[in-house]
Amino acid sequence: MKTFFESPDRDRKTSGCILCNSFNWKALSLKDLFQIFKCKDCGLIFAYPIPDEDKVLESYSKGKSLESSIVEKQRENGERNFPEWKIKESMFFYRGITEYKRTGNILDIGCLWGLFLSIAKKKGWDCYGVEPFTEAADYAREKFGLNIFQGDIKKAHYPNNYFDVITMFDVIEHSVNPANILAETHRILKNDGLLCVGTPNLNGIYTTSQNIYGKLRFNKLTPNYLNPPFHFYGFNKKNIKKLLNKAGFEVIEIKTFSSFIMNNLIPPSKNIFSFKLLLRKCISILEDYTNSGDRMICYATKKHSSTNS
Ligand SMILES: [Zn+2]
Repeated sequence: MKTFFESPDRDRKTSGCILCNSFNWKALSLKDLFQIFKCKDCGLIFAYPIPDEDKVLESYSKGKSLESSIVEKQRENGERNFPEWKIKESMFFYRGITEYKRTGNILDIGCLWGLFLSIAKKKGWDCYGVEPFTEAADYAREKFGLNIFQGDIKKAHYPNNYFDVITMFDVIEHSVNPANILAETHRILKNDGLLCVGTPNLNGIYTTSQNIYGKLRFNKLTPNYLNPPFHFYGFNKKNIKKLLNKAGFEVIEIKTFSSFIMNNLIPPSKNIFSFKLLLRKCISILEDYTNSGDRMICYATKKHSSTNS
């Protein structure tokens, strides 16, 4: 089956690693039309070849390649049925921001249905969202009365140094060109503003143990490790910091958390005393204790020398 993601260049390296320009890559696996590589120099994991940005954005505008559109099913009366874990997660994201900023205006890039922004709005923030998926952007506007730009952040044309806080949760790994989004973010964030980036941590204890298991048992990586065309990039604490630094940001803190605990991933049918579940719980506790969870949030400000005038 041919799709627009198909490219004859899968086996030909035409450009270096987006983080360190290295061509020193290790092939990890094949996923449909993509090769999954790891850069041996910076540890970035990425799908290759990266498809055309406009085509990916077009598919996002129709809600394709968005896992959340599957997770959050529509109720009969037209309301979104946000799962409890999603509300809990959004509250967690909100509390994290208030440790640095208490009030002002906030932009959520990839705001989807506007759940996170609806929480911030209730707390008195002046809220803005960017969302490529038309249906989600419309819902966020109509349901929560939010100021949403539907489309690509670069086309929203927000003023320079405008936002107190910019957030992007589970966006950067979906992006074809993370540097482009971060460059625009840098331009529109106030010089003393806060950037908050949430993404999976591929060096988390659970993710690592899953992959060791997959390698030993099936001689392949687990499918969730990097899943193009959902995820094009996979970061760890070290290289997300490098990416943000390269874009002119200074990382203040990286917090990780366990998606197993946060998102309550226990299937209701499972015996809660099963060995696998107990093992997973133990790993989650260890993840929390060592700040090595499978998801992470980076808090950053603009580097002093690179602030816009
Ligand atoms: Zn690299």
